[in-house]
Amino acid sequence: MLKRFLRYYEPYKGLLALDLAATLFLAAADLVFPTATRHVIDVVVPAHDWQGLWLTAGLLVLLFALRALAELVVGYQGHVLGVNIQHDMRRDLFDHLQRLDHKFFDDTKTGQIMSRIVSDLFEIAEISHHAPEDLLVALVRIFGAFAVMCAIEWRLALVACALLPFMTFYAVRYRGKLLDSFKKSREKQAVINERVEESISGIRVVKSFTNEAYEIDRFAEGNRSFRSTRVETVRRLGFFYAGLGLLGNLALVVVLAAGGAFALSGIVSLGSYVAFALFVAQFLQPIQVLMRVFEMYQDGEAGLRRFFEIMDRKPEVADSPNAIVLGAANKVRGEIEFRNVGFRYAEGQERVLHEVNLKVAAGETVAIVGPSGAGKTTLCSLIPRFYEIEEGAVLVDGHDVRTLTLESLRRAVGVVQQDTFLFAGSVRENIAYGRLDAAERDIVAAAKAAAADEFIRSLPEGYNTVVGERGVKLSGGQKQRIAIARMFLKNPPILILDEATSSLDARSEEVIRASIEALSQGRTTFIIAHRLATIRHAKRIIVLTEEGIAEEGDHESLLARKGAYYGLYNAQVESLLIG
Ligand code: ADP
Repeated sequence: MLKRFLRYYEPYKGLLALDLAATLFLAAADLVFPTATRHVIDVVVPAHDWQGLWLTAGLLVLLFALRALAELVVGYQGHVLGVNIQHDMRRDLFDHLQRLDHKFFDDTKTGQIMSRIVSDLFEIAEISHHAPEDLLVALVRIFGAFAVMCAIEWRLALVACALLPFMTFYAVRYRGKLLDSFKKSREKQAVINERVEESISGIRVVKSFTNEAYEIDRFAEGNRSFRSTRVETVRRLGFFYAGLGLLGNLALVVVLAAGGAFALSGIVSLGSYVAFALFVAQFLQPIQVLMRVFEMYQDGEAGLRRFFEIMDRKPEVADSPNAIVLGAANKVRGEIEFRNVGFRYAEGQERVLHEVNLKVAAGETVAIVGPSGAGKTTLCSLIPRFYEIEEGAVLVDGHDVRTLTLESLRRAVGVVQQDTFLFAGSVRENIAYGRLDAAERDIVAAAKAAAADEFIRSLPEGYNTVVGERGVKLSGGQKQRIAIARMFLKNPPILILDEATSSLDARSEEVIRASIEALSQGRTTFIIAHRLATIRHAKRIIVLTEEGIAEEGDHESLLARKGAYYGLYNAQVESLLIG
């Protein structure tokens, strides 16, 4: 995993080198001041060397100016490095998400994906430059300070290390507890994110059931639990840093006392004594720095794991190596055949479709009816190959869909869904989604064909009216007409219409039925009908039940058979009469 992550540094090798060089300089520069102090006390002051004093001060100013420069490079370019890596990873993740198939999105929560793109990648970006920097600083401080101290007086250097084992032991012991706390915090945080995401996206349902209080309670529970975990975490952190601080200060006292004794016995000079006191602080600091790296690494690693988890998800539905382009030689005719098709959504689940055989000629319209849950939507979603089938084959113009490129196949198939999804942009943008390079003329023509032009012009800003998230500012019928206009623009030879279950008022329904009829002209059309009244005039009606295709024919002949269709019809008429 680490190796794969390191690949993200590749384009920024120069930046990384600059950052690390500046860090190295920064850490090394900090070793100079104690040495300079020692020099002033031991050499310059006893000799009354004014010139030496100014020279030392001047050199230190120069050094600190350079150090400030290095600090700027680390603080600025280091973060630029992190931001670049974050950018690239986010790009890759989004690219990959766009390629994943329906199955992945059926199983994954939006909130989870959001938190991966936002917070996980932020953590990874932070660690991507802070970890190497901090590690380098810690190493230079520990080994550098120790080496210089040894050079001055090795016995005192050893005394200065006396408390180091205790500090390490303490840090390692607390590490486990802290890790545990961090992990719990993250889990609780994820629960909160999920709740917010779900409750806000379903806010209209929440309100219609006046379940605000229930939602607030449910949220409060997660929120409280997160609070207590955080309180526990900061309690441990508080104890940890206080303890480490105490040990560090005790180490200072040890050096002060031992160094004083060494100085009194004339083993070290006064300057060396002071230098030691200054060094020891630097020497002990890395433990805290290393702890911080460790902390960050934990977060970063969890984020990285989740990142690669998604990146490793391969779409089951993808182009086969020698996929051909549908309609490359001539126009797509739109002949569809289901040959012995068997399908289930997941292993271990019951089959939704079993031995389905159906042939639809180019330009023909078929209505698919059946009890809810019979697999009507599923059957149609196999034509654009949203899911991979297990048995049999789906053929378009005689080609198995698995041998076609997804792009050419899906370009030939238009799907108008039950719940129309509009993007948060303007009406124009939403129609143009059918063909991104469409000219204004074509957009208006498509809207006219869908009987949408008139109502669009009566909107406050016409085609520029912003429709709101998922099109909340439009009525159901209006959204459907925009979806139909979008399909006119796309102009696919094969059409799948999942008829809206929510009933519209009679007039809108009439308008929409007329535009759907216009849309289906000259295209192979599948209408998934939930209400039989709408397809009474269809020439070919397929009745899909859990056992497969049960009957087929037109309304009259199906009624006459007194079979499944007859049952469905009577049930609907009855419910209409009672309702
Ligand atoms: P219909 O359109 O006839 O009402 P569907 O094709 O939507 O029926 O559903 C057929 C069956 O497949 C149902 O039992 C449903 O629970 C199941 N199903 C539908 N979509 C999915 C999915 N994405 N993942 C798993 N099961 C699904």
